Amino acid sequence: MISIKSQRELDKMRKAGEVVMLVHKRLEEMIAPGVTTKELDRIAAEVIKSKGAVPSFRGVPCPYGGIDFPGVICASINNEVIHGIPGDRVLEDGDIISIDTGAILDGFHGDAARTYPVGSVSPDALRLISVTEEAFNRGMAQAVEGNRIRDISRAIQNFVEENGFSVVRDYVGHGIGREMHEEPQIPNYVSSYRGVRLTAGMTLAIEPMVNAGTWQVSVLDDRWTVVTADSSLSAHHENTIAVTDKGPEILTALY
Ligand code: MG
Repeated sequence: MISIKSQRELDKMRKAGEVVMLVHKRLEEMIAPGVTTKELDRIAAEVIKSKGAVPSFRGVPCPYGGIDFPGVICASINNEVIHGIPGDRVLEDGDIISIDTGAILDGFHGDAARTYPVGSVSPDALRLISVTEEAFNRGMAQAVEGNRIRDISRAIQNFVEENGFSVVRDYVGHGIGREMHEEPQIPNYVSSYRGVRLTAGMTLAIEPMVNAGTWQVSVLDDRWTVVTADSSLSAHHENTIAVTDKGPEILTALY
């Protein structure tokens, strides 16, 4: 079932989305060589709590039989694609770190990811980050009434591959609302899955995960951290958006 949100519900999702972006704003200011991912997680938890919201990620059951997710953020460094567990790892100059976080406020979720450079990073890494962000923009531009999910997927895949990178296939974007993961799935590549037609009031988490090398990935022994199969760098850009009769609107924004 795909849920269609009323104006009142969209307003609640904007508020949840703002909490998520306040977390990103704080973490972006903090990210530097010498900081641990555990410290980032602690600050994220503080921001979410200070806004009366609840973290979406903490306690999520592991799809591969590991522990429930212990963090408020996913912190995925360099060749880590998604689902990195915050811990004692210290950020180093030249790393890139993908932070994904979600919060629930007044019954609705917001979910957004960014990849940040740590100190001074290589031009190739910066290009990976900017292509991933632009891939999100290209996908979102297709989130208009009458289009299908596959139009979003195609725009993302084409842009990424034109730039010589690849899109992860094992993990996809998703509908979002009262649940963090709702229908429909939003692949970042074109498959036989055409997807539903988009209508106003649908709320979607569009989230290209882009690898510098192969699209193939594997999961570490912690049963959470997804890494690139060839150890190449990976970046992630995600926002929660709404399809409206005036076009797509980003809900994970600072108002
Ligand atoms: Mg998501």
